[in-house]
Amino acid sequence: MVWCFYSPSFLLDGSTITAALLLPFPVTFFPLLPANLSPFSNRSQKMPKVKTNRVKYPEGWELVEPTLNELQAKMREAENDPHDGKRKCEALWPIFKIAHQKSRYIFDLYYRRKEISAELYEFCLDQGYADRNLMAKWKKPGYERLCCLRCIQPRDHNFQTTCVCRVPKHLREEKVIECVHCGCKGCASGD
Ligand SMILES: [Zn+2]
Ligand SMILES: [Zn+2]
Repeated sequence: MVWCFYSPSFLLDGSTITAALLLPFPVTFFPLLPANLSPFSNRSQKMPKVKTNRVKYPEGWELVEPTLNELQAKMREAENDPHDGKRKCEALWPIFKIAHQKSRYIFDLYYRRKEISAELYEFCLDQGYADRNLMAKWKKPGYERLCCLRCIQPRDHNFQTTCVCRVPKHLREEKVIECVHCGCKGCASGD
């Protein structure tokens, strides 16, 4: 009987059973669990998010990409500019101007020239190429040419009014202006 326990055939059977129970377990069972319950998910959750290139670009993207890339490059240049000799407010003007250009480019392509799909339009907004709030203003009468959102914030101006650049040219005393917020030279609808 004792010999039987140490028989080579028992050892072989025993190890085969053990291996059959243990080895397939992590391989076959864990992947069936939802990702957040899987014992393998802990490690990846603690790792910093890695930017992947898995963005799905809608049809027509290749048409807008060169211009958007060019404007993005200009934006980086403006952000890194040392602003030597400029007034503090003036240093931000190029940044506002380029942000405006990007939004205007996408807005015109979709609403005026009708050259891009709604899907591509939404994609550009989602990816941060354009300012959704500014574009919403452009659809309202009197705001078609609005330069930036700050210029219509009453709290940012003296006497709770809007910016000087919002005053139509024929109602302004000075004909040539540059507003303090974004350097706008006038963006009232009739100008
Ligand atoms: Zn303005
Ligand atoms: Zn202004």
